[in-house]
Amino acid sequence: MTDKIFIDGLEIFANHGALREENVLGQKFVVSVSMECDMREAGKGDDLSKSVNYADVCTLIEKSMKDSTYKLIEAAAENIAEKILMSYDRVKSVTVNLKKPWAPILMNVNTVGVEITRLWHTSYIALGSNMGDRRAHLSEAVKSIESSPRCRVKKVSDFIETKPVGGVEQEDFLNGCMEIQTLYTPHELLDFLHEIENAHHRERKIHWGPRTLDLDIILYDDIIMNNSDLTIPHPESTKREFVLEPLNRIAPYAYHPAARMYISELFDKIH
Ligand code: ATP
Ligand code: CA
Ligand code: CA
Repeated sequence: MTDKIFIDGLEIFANHGALREENVLGQKFVVSVSMECDMREAGKGDDLSKSVNYADVCTLIEKSMKDSTYKLIEAAAENIAEKILMSYDRVKSVTVNLKKPWAPILMNVNTVGVEITRLWHTSYIALGSNMGDRRAHLSEAVKSIESSPRCRVKKVSDFIETKPVGGVEQEDFLNGCMEIQTLYTPHELLDFLHEIENAHHRERKIHWGPRTLDLDIILYDDIIMNNSDLTIPHPESTKREFVLEPLNRIAPYAYHPAARMYISELFDKIH
């Protein structure tokens, strides 16, 4: 079931463009958006508070188009999509179509434009610490993630004591897992998690050695990717009790697309 609310052809005069003349003189932009949002309750109860008010969305789009000046309509569209997703909990995904009918290209075209679709992604992140105030490192990491407008923390597991694995002689760990929703791409999320680790003075001296804070992306939607700097699902996730135990507590029915098993099944296998 996919319900949608759409706004078609909202005209806004604004100053975006790569040319100085465009920034000074301004021109007409035409914005259409389609928002995926469950409208069953609103429809059954005839209740606007259970839906998304399209008049408000039009105001938000106008503000977003007029408050900043972008060189690219790609950037203007990106900004509209993020503002809508951040402002309306009910909106799961949004498609923004942004046209520039008066684009200065000295040829005859009806219009030029861009169309992008953005959505909240679900990711599971494993947290670990075995240096300093371990609980504080983990709780502060949760808070830092929560404070990003591009992330929403949905669930946080209890933190559990675990023995180090990997052969390095070191202190016991405190481990946990969290479920988030995020607007970040996988690589943006990795960069963001690295920033948080760095703020906790994470050092990489010994492979699998002691650390103040380790944040790993375990799952990201049902993506399977294997880049030189990012592998999702996390390649060790199927073997590690210190990941699967807290993850199983918050998301036993999450699906591991590489192992093709539910988290509860993976946990049962190694437990
Ligand atoms: P492990 O990845 O086996 O748990 P580690 O956490 O100790 O080991 P780090 O030193 O924290 O390893 O990370 C090394 C690199 O791993 C990171 O810089 C990152 O580029 C890469 N990496 C690959 N896949 C992931 C992932 N899913 N989550 C986090 N980092 C990842
Ligand atoms: Ca790790
Ligand atoms: Ca890591």
